[in-house]
Amino acid sequence: MVRLLDGSMSAQLKHFGYDCNSAENIPHWTFPANSDECLVANAYKSFLDLGVTDITTNTYHFGSTLDKRIPENDSKKEIYENYFQIACSSLVKLTEMKDGVRVWGSVGTLATLYHDMSEYNGKYMDNEDAENTARNYYQTILTLFQTKTKVRNLVFETIPSAVEGLMALEALKRFPEMRAVMSFTFKENACLRHGEEIDTLAGELRKCSQIVGMGINCTDPENVLPALKVIKKHNFPEVFVYPNMGDSKFLNEGSDESDVFNLDMVTGWVENGATTIGGCCGVTETQMKILKKIVDNLNNSK
Ligand SMILES: [Zn+2]
Repeated sequence: MVRLLDGSMSAQLKHFGYDCNSAENIPHWTFPANSDECLVANAYKSFLDLGVTDITTNTYHFGSTLDKRIPENDSKKEIYENYFQIACSSLVKLTEMKDGVRVWGSVGTLATLYHDMSEYNGKYMDNEDAENTARNYYQTILTLFQTKTKVRNLVFETIPSAVEGLMALEALKRFPEMRAVMSFTFKENACLRHGEEIDTLAGELRKCSQIVGMGINCTDPENVLPALKVIKKHNFPEVFVYPNMGDSKFLNEGSDESDVFNLDMVTGWVENGATTIGGCCGVTETQMKILKKIVDNLNNSK
């Protein structure tokens, strides 16, 4: 069975009147929505009503609350940790009675700490001490999941560089109860945004029994297949594919409403090992409804 993952949280929150781009929500983006338990529950419910089988917690943008350059972050630490808890408990509660729905704790890339779109080049990993910074960053987030939530399945999202992936892996190994899908963002020719090829990295991830899968996310739909073909060789139990609406449209803030998904494309992904498909930045509910039909179609024809 092909599984359906959720779409863009920011697009979904918009339906309920929450604007990520408003002055009070910058630079924490979707994260402050967790201050309103009803709002975040409504966003989750709308994904569940759409028929998703896999859903992520609204914790991706927690990273910006760890940015020491923002003066109030320190004094609001407890508040933000409380938001983190609400994001998780509210989703766990909503899915408890739903058979077969899997909750994934979203672990945002280190780029969310810098909140400057650097996930699309990964240049911060060239900074001196980047490895330590990455290791500590992931350690902090995994500690929160471990100590404050019941979530034990994680999805690391939008990682742009191989070294960052390895640092995330090191942190994961310190939390043996946790299982994870590690998902990366790609440019052309199966290269990560920072430039690396992924064959060696995929082999390294596959060796760890806590890693249940690898993913391709926030990637132009056109760039998915080459990366998928490399990942396929490693036989991960789970392969997540959740592209953005298209790099040129999304990074240039275009308003092209053309469809992100079509049957041929999604069939090609499934044939090349994708187990779970959803949407990332810019993928709206309308696009998710199209994807749901495609996934149903594939599941019924088997
Ligand atoms: Zn994205």
